[in-house]
Amino acid sequence: MKPIYLDNNATTACDPEVLEAMLPFFQQQFGNPHSPHVMGRKAMHHVEKARESVAAGLGCEPDEILFTAGATESNNIALFGLAKGILNDRKRILVCATEHKSVLYPCEELAANGFVVEKIPVNSQGEIRLDVLQQQLSTDTLVVSVHAANNEVGTIQPLAAVSQLVHERGALLHTDAAQACGKMPLKFSDLGVDLASISAHKLYGPKGIGALFVRRGLSPGVMRTVIQGGGQERGLRPGTLNVAGIVGMGVAFALAEVRLHQDVRHIADLRDAFEHKIEVVLECYFNGHGAQRLSGTTSITFPGVPADMLIANVPELCIGMGSACSSGTLSPSHVLLAMGLCREDAGCTIRVSFGRTNSQRDVQIAADLIGRAVSSLRTEASNRVQI
Ligand code: PMP
Repeated sequence: MKPIYLDNNATTACDPEVLEAMLPFFQQQFGNPHSPHVMGRKAMHHVEKARESVAAGLGCEPDEILFTAGATESNNIALFGLAKGILNDRKRILVCATEHKSVLYPCEELAANGFVVEKIPVNSQGEIRLDVLQQQLSTDTLVVSVHAANNEVGTIQPLAAVSQLVHERGALLHTDAAQACGKMPLKFSDLGVDLASISAHKLYGPKGIGALFVRRGLSPGVMRTVIQGGGQERGLRPGTLNVAGIVGMGVAFALAEVRLHQDVRHIADLRDAFEHKIEVVLECYFNGHGAQRLSGTTSITFPGVPADMLIANVPELCIGMGSACSSGTLSPSHVLLAMGLCREDAGCTIRVSFGRTNSQRDVQIAADLIGRAVSSLRTEASNRVQI
């Protein structure tokens, strides 16, 4: 049986239109966009068209988009870049406790280098505690980093409210929008964010390409480069541009713009049908169910059934254990712990994330397989106890 892919928060398949648009840039139109000759100029033309498409999708201006290798790199450039910038006499950094590690680890390094980093807790649904954020904000806060939507549970953060609080204190707002792009309406200028990180492969674009949004009004010098080189991307992300990737990302954004509402409806229907099928037959609970959440993400805890055993028992399904990025490590998900799950339940949690290409048939098969595997693992466990 062909595997059923239900891990769309980890990555998505490249859309065929994206792939087709990229192909000429590997062999025919391979010029370096910074070369002065005709092939360079042509490549630059396509890069700038893609920049316009990405900017249109994000509700910002093309010159506010810097191409990077993806959200991990964008998060690092943003946080370390601000820490080297002219506002770095502000020594406090606030981050949401459920950020991705590509935000948390740079913050840990900054904490070891003279910055005070505070983690802002979330409630049981994974929403940032605005009351605590307000208390912790001070006039020496440099930046607050709050993701737009969570990769493990799908909780959408109240960014407009966060932005208001942050700007009242003169601090900057960075958002890791890797999971939100292409999955919900997201216009950076309306939300009032100063910096934002994205990855193309989360919205049917290629891997290894992404962007950092840097608001036009930020004073020069607020961010300094952390990578030295040829000065591309306003000096903040030097290095030869990944033209094929950039072109693919431009197409992925154009498609997302057209398909957003249809995708959201289709994917939410799949998720709701899946949750219903699971909850009527199995003892379980859903994490972040009560919050505004991404349409395709479901995080389910099956108490007493370790996620790694469950996943091993459904080899036909591609599903996640907590977060794909922390799979392979034995520590339970920091996101689930921050939401108040005990370590044991966190270890009994799977993530299923639906995408554009999934169908109700996938839902039916996945619910049946998971249902059977959970029941048999529970029966085995209770037989062991009786022996
Ligand atoms: N932030 C979030 C919220 C993510 O989900 C991911 C990908 N798992 C990243 C950042 C990192 O993205 P990339 O691996 O494309 O750099």
